[in-house]
Amino acid sequence: MRHLKELALPQSVDEFWEKKKQYGPSAVVIAGGTDIVSEPPEGVECLIDVRHLTSDSISEDEEGITIGAATTMDALTKSPLAARLGCGMLREATCRGWPIPVRSAATIGGNVAGGDPFADTPPVLLALGAQFLIETPEGPRRVPVDEFFIDYRKTAAEGAILMAISVPHKPAEGKGAFVKVAPAAVDKAMVNLGVYSEIVNGRCSNVRVAVGAVTRIPHRVKKVEDLMSGEVLSTELIDEAAETLSQSVEPMLDMRAPAEHRRSLLSAVFKRAVRSLAQAG
Ligand SMILES: Cc1cc2nc3c(=O)[nH]c(=O)nc-3n(C[C@H](O)[C@H](O)[C@H](O)COP(=O)(O)OP(=O)(O)OC[C@H]3O[C@@H](n4cnc5c(N)ncnc54)[C@H](O)[C@@H]3O)c2cc1C
Repeated sequence: MRHLKELALPQSVDEFWEKKKQYGPSAVVIAGGTDIVSEPPEGVECLIDVRHLTSDSISEDEEGITIGAATTMDALTKSPLAARLGCGMLREATCRGWPIPVRSAATIGGNVAGGDPFADTPPVLLALGAQFLIETPEGPRRVPVDEFFIDYRKTAAEGAILMAISVPHKPAEGKGAFVKVAPAAVDKAMVNLGVYSEIVNGRCSNVRVAVGAVTRIPHRVKKVEDLMSGEVLSTELIDEAAETLSQSVEPMLDMRAPAEHRRSLLSAVFKRAVRSLAQAG
């Protein structure tokens, strides 16, 4: 960061906006710094550390479970409340990979706000129908997860502060699973996937299937959700849904995996995730 002049630690939201005004687009938000330091944007003059402004606690009320944006992956892995989310799918996403020093610093806010398509928590939050609480110059906003990821490395938190993420309570019949495939245990994903469904007498409803590390943004695959909704979770259904999934995405090509390899991995991880839903039921 050749142009860096200041590391700002605002103690209030007003101070944050003052710094943003002072530096304009050359001011960049930082939390744990694990992403931004390894891939710094061009021309950054001021890093604004927002961890004093955002909570690092996990709490529950009658609507659901709320996770402060400054909560680290390590804290999520150890939290009994986070462990309840989607039958442990968030915990699964935060405990696979992540070298220990990275896991102790990396925050969930940074994992989603940076819009990294390879990040592990976005497919989980998409599958669980999370809401994002954002502080904007016009005041606080609540953004549904389906509107949060806008483009490659562009999210609704850009130019704002992501304060917290809330996940609504699910009924007892709600089952969830997260699966990630990476070249090595501590690598980012070649493919990751979150699946949620309510299952009563073997029949699926409120199905949500979300993929990451496949295209420029993590996203839900509605065609698969529609195919499964109302159906009995049979081997035939899982095979048909896996085929539909792999044909519904246009995988990107990068150094981690060729496009066709990603397509077949996606089909395999989907089958694994959905079978584990059935077992959890
Ligand atoms: C060796 C290594 C291994 C990794 N392994 C994994 C892995 O297995 N899985 C995985 O998903 N990721 C992995 N990562 C990526 C990285 O650690 C995560 O994306 C991390 O969660 C980012 O969080 P952070 O707090 O460090 O964010 P930062 O680096 O501080 O910020 C990341 C981005 O988010 C923005 N941001 C941060 N907080 C806020 C906020 N509150 N409001 C608005 N914008 C904000 C920043 O401006 C920046 O654009 C790895 C990274 C490294 C270096």
